[in-house]
Amino acid sequence: MPTLGLVGLGMSAKSALMITGSLLAIGGGGYFIYKASKPPKRPLPAVYDDYFSHAEKMLKRGNRANNEILLTIDDGPHPESLKIILATLKKYKVPATFFVVGIRVKEHPDLVRQIMNDGHEVGNHTQDHLRLDTLSEQAVRNQIDFCDQNIFKATGRHASFIRPPGFRTNAKVGDILESHGLTTIGWNVGAKDFIVFRNREATAEDRARIGVEPDQIAERVLKQLKPGSIIVLHDIKVSALALPKIIEGAQKKGFKFITTAQMLARLPEPIMVKANPSAPLITASR
Ligand SMILES: [Zn+2]
Repeated sequence: MPTLGLVGLGMSAKSALMITGSLLAIGGGGYFIYKASKPPKRPLPAVYDDYFSHAEKMLKRGNRANNEILLTIDDGPHPESLKIILATLKKYKVPATFFVVGIRVKEHPDLVRQIMNDGHEVGNHTQDHLRLDTLSEQAVRNQIDFCDQNIFKATGRHASFIRPPGFRTNAKVGDILESHGLTTIGWNVGAKDFIVFRNREATAEDRARIGVEPDQIAERVLKQLKPGSIIVLHDIKVSALALPKIIEGAQKKGFKFITTAQMLARLPEPIMVKANPSAPLITASR
């Protein structure tokens, strides 16, 4: 009987989904994302929450058992630095995730398309780079939607990942991000790669004194690397110039760069989220 057949199918599909996460369809062009798995009924051991917070739907770090790290690059696209960054990533065959700002995506849609065509992931970093925990619920939704609309207009793809500016978030913001189907991506290796003076441009002396010359940035990042590290750099010139040294140093230490979707899928309790590059994923060179 057809009814029984459907019930049977439903049950077996349900057990499969418990392992792989549930499939969520969102509007437009048959585009699908995998919604992160719901937390199992039994409480998870604390160690899993240390990797991924189900309550906040937030990745905190990658699997400690794997010599794998994630490179994230925030605040672009900025044409001058991005061109250097993309060329470097291509040369070393290293993937990265770019958290982009909507107003800059609108100015440079071609650059965001190039990021995806090169096989990298593009994440949402809000429309105007505002601190989400200071905004009304509607303003938070607008910041997320407007950025995503600009990404979609530029590339025909939506973002599955978000990083709130300044990592300023709270329970209310977290609920809104989750209701938009977004997974929040944290970081644990800061490059401290920029300084801003209120009244003047930073000079070369300022940068050397404060430690934001390319070599100093690279050394700071390399010193902090551990299995499962998530590096945050900014889409600016000094970091673009630091990148070859960061990649070579990390590979010398035996680390392999993976994508955000791969890092989520390789957690002790895997989280399946479909990423958005339009080209096949780059395989890191080691
Ligand atoms: Zn930012």
